[in-house]
Amino acid sequence: MDMRVYIVGETLGGRLTEETMDLASFVHSAYGRMPDACFLPSCKGDDAAHELAGLTGSTVHLLRSGDDLCPPGRALAEKIAAIIGEGRPSAVFLAQRFFGLELAPMIALLLDAEILTGVVAASGWRFTRQVYGGRFVEHTQPARDRVVCTVFTSPRRHVALEHPSRGRVLVHEAPPADDRARLVGILEPAVSTSPLPEAEVIVSAGRGLGGKENLHLVEELASLFPRSAVGASRGACDLGWLDYSRQIGTTGMSVSPRLYIACGISGAVQHTAGIRGAQTVIAVNIDDQAPIFNVAHIHVVEDLKTFLPALIDEMRKAMAGRNLG
Ligand SMILES: Cc1cc2nc3c(=O)[nH]c(=O)nc-3n(C[C@H](O)[C@H](O)[C@H](O)COP(=O)(O)OP(=O)(O)OC[C@H]3O[C@@H](n4cnc5c(N)ncnc54)[C@H](O)[C@@H]3O)c2cc1C
Repeated sequence: MDMRVYIVGETLGGRLTEETMDLASFVHSAYGRMPDACFLPSCKGDDAAHELAGLTGSTVHLLRSGDDLCPPGRALAEKIAAIIGEGRPSAVFLAQRFFGLELAPMIALLLDAEILTGVVAASGWRFTRQVYGGRFVEHTQPARDRVVCTVFTSPRRHVALEHPSRGRVLVHEAPPADDRARLVGILEPAVSTSPLPEAEVIVSAGRGLGGKENLHLVEELASLFPRSAVGASRGACDLGWLDYSRQIGTTGMSVSPRLYIACGISGAVQHTAGIRGAQTVIAVNIDDQAPIFNVAHIHVVEDLKTFLPALIDEMRKAMAGRNLG
């Protein structure tokens, strides 16, 4: 099918996000070519737009916002839909994070396109997506000739992008944000352990922890590994046990550690979407049917309050033995 493929990227502090690179990689592996055009909403992303044009060779539409921040509102969706315009069948890909999830339905509505969320693969006009909390995958072929997809990105999955020819950067002044929703700021997280994206080992806490008083178990285990960090499910963050800056998943961070240890986390798709880049996943859960075991390489069916102290103890002994030897 003769179709146009677009991505809508993101910037943070004027820099391209990893998710944007991964979207371009996703399109390249799915279609054997780079996107026909990339959209980059940004207030100070001129350098990022040129970088993206260099990496992909695609035309980059820099949607420059007069606001300090570039909220994913209807005005932005209208601009993107207007540039795509009428014409050939097209697929628009956004990252399955808060920005993409907010913007995708608006673009789909304006283009009269189908919308597919949780997309994990694409080939021509066939798409694979996760459904029912990640328990099943669906292969689907949209009936309309336009589709907008949100894709589960994985920062370390993307191949090193480079393109022999540099794409053009077209600058558009994005209309001011509409009044109904206003992004008033982005809070910098109060980080207490290693930054999650850089950690090689992440030990994460879920609601199965039972209470904040047990958090020390997760922190102690993490402290036994170099370059480690403590992560969390949204369930644990909602309960105030950990700061939201520790949240992993679709509305949190996407991480790619060498080892991910999920403690008392059920494994909702919104969480596991954030650990797709992890090399090895160990899950500790009392429920042997917990969905986290669908993605875990090592299953520990045990009460974490029993297992974690025993593991910490054994690791300390092994480390002490190594130091003596
Ligand atoms: C739009 C949207 C976005 C979302 N984004 C995110 C996101 O980014 N990240 C995220 O994590 N979630 C996200 N969620 C929420 C997600 O759907 C789940 O509700 C959440 O991940 C559940 O957190 P949990 O696994 O800690 O808690 P639960 O689902 O309550 O699971 C607790 C687990 O602990 C186990 N357990 C209980 N006691 C013990 C014990 N003593 N020892 C061992 N195991 C035990 C239980 O068997 C259970 O499996 C989002 C939801 C929505 C609707």
